[in-house]
Amino acid sequence: MNHDDFTSQAAADFLDRFGRAADGVWSAPGRVNLIGEHTDYNEGFVLPFAIDRRTWAAVGLRDDNTARVTSTFSEDEVEVELAQVSPEILDGWSAYPLGIAWALGENGIDLAGQAGFDVHISSDVPVGAGLSSSAAIECAVAIALDERWQLELDRPTLARVGQLAENKAVGAPTGIMDQSASLLGRRDSAVFLDCRSLRSEIVDLGFQAAGLEIVIIDTKVSHAHATGGYAARRASCEAGAAALGVESLRDVGVADLDRAREVMDDETFRRVRHIVTENARVLATVRALRESGPLAIGEILDASHVSMRDDFEISVPELDLAVVAARAAGAIGARMTGGGFGGAAIALTPSHLVAEVTSQVAAAFAEAGYRAPEIFTVTPSDGAKREL
Ligand code: ADP
Ligand code: MG
Repeated sequence: MNHDDFTSQAAADFLDRFGRAADGVWSAPGRVNLIGEHTDYNEGFVLPFAIDRRTWAAVGLRDDNTARVTSTFSEDEVEVELAQVSPEILDGWSAYPLGIAWALGENGIDLAGQAGFDVHISSDVPVGAGLSSSAAIECAVAIALDERWQLELDRPTLARVGQLAENKAVGAPTGIMDQSASLLGRRDSAVFLDCRSLRSEIVDLGFQAAGLEIVIIDTKVSHAHATGGYAARRASCEAGAAALGVESLRDVGVADLDRAREVMDDETFRRVRHIVTENARVLATVRALRESGPLAIGEILDASHVSMRDDFEISVPELDLAVVAARAAGAIGARMTGGGFGGAAIALTPSHLVAEVTSQVAAAFAEAGYRAPEIFTVTPSDGAKREL
C-alpha cells in the first residue's frame, strides 16, 4: 500500500470502528540512526534520520472525558477516563498512545478538563526491528492531540513528552533521539542532535544527488541479555565518568584518553573510548556531509562498527557478517545500528549495487547457517505531519 492509501484506509477504519468520521489523520515516521550509538545517555551527539515507514493516527475528539484506542496491530480496544490515566493503569501496546495523554498531563495540561478522544492506529514500521515503531506511534498521537487540543507545544517539547511516555508509561529507559528524529526529520536530511543541550540542526544528507541508498539488514536476532547488556554499558560509562571526575563522558575528549587509560580498568577504558571516539565520529560525519558530501562518510561508518564490535562489545556475529558482506558487495560503509546484541545493520550503498548487496548478504547468511535476514532500503523522509 502506498502512503496515501494508508491515510485513506486509516480514515475509513476509524469510521468503521467508531461509527463517525475522524477529525483528521496524522502520521509520524520511524527512524534509523546513521551514527552516534550509546552516546545519547552520555549527553553526547547522535545523527538519526526519519524514514519512509510511518505510523498513522486517525483521531476524533469526543464530548466526554473518555479516551479509546484501537490498532490494526491488535484486536483489543482499550478505554480509559483521561482524568484517571496514569502509568499504573497502562500496560501493553496502548501504553504508547495513552501514555502520550498522561505525559501531556505531566506537562501541565489539565486532563480532567480536556475533551476525550478516539484514536485508530495503523503502521508500516516493522515492530521491534530497531526502527522505532514506538516513537512513530507516540509522535503521531502527540501531534494529533497537540493540534486538536490546541496546545501549540513546539516539537522539542513534544519530543520530551514522547520520551516521558516511553520512560514512565511504558517503562523503557530510552533517550530522546527517536522522538526527535520522528518529529524533526526532513526529506533527504538527518537530525544532528546534541543530547546535552537538546539543540538540533538539520543536516543535508545528499544521498539522492550522490545516488546512494541506505540498505537495512535486519538480522532478526534478539538476545535475551540485551536489556542486561544495555544496563551494564550504562553502568560502565558512569563508572568511567566518575573515575575521570566528570559529570558525563560528553566532557571527555580524544586527547584525554591517555589519562583515562591510567585511572580505570581495561574494560571500562574500552567502553569509555567507544563513547569518546563515537562522539568525535558524529562530529566528523556532520563536517564531512557539509564539506564533501555523503561519499566521504563511508570510512567513518566502518570505524563506528569496529568500535562497537571491539571496544563497546555490543555486536554479534550476525551483525559483523552483515557489515562485512555488504562492504564486500560494494557498500561504501556499514555498521550495526541501535542498542546492539542483535537488531539491524545499515549499509550506505550506491543505488546500482543495492540488488548485489541484498543478494550477497543473503547468500553469506545462508552459508553461515544463520536465519535469513530481512533486507530492504529506507529513504530519509519528512517528520511527523498532518495527512488529512
Ligand atoms: P521498536 O524498535 O519497533 O520501537 P519497541 O519495543 O520499542 O520496538 O516498540 C514496539 C512496541 O510498540 C510494540 O510491541 C507495541 O506495543 C507498540 N507499537 C508499535 N507500533 C504499534 C502499532 N502500530 N499499534 C499498536 N502498538 C504498536
Ligand atoms: Mg522503540
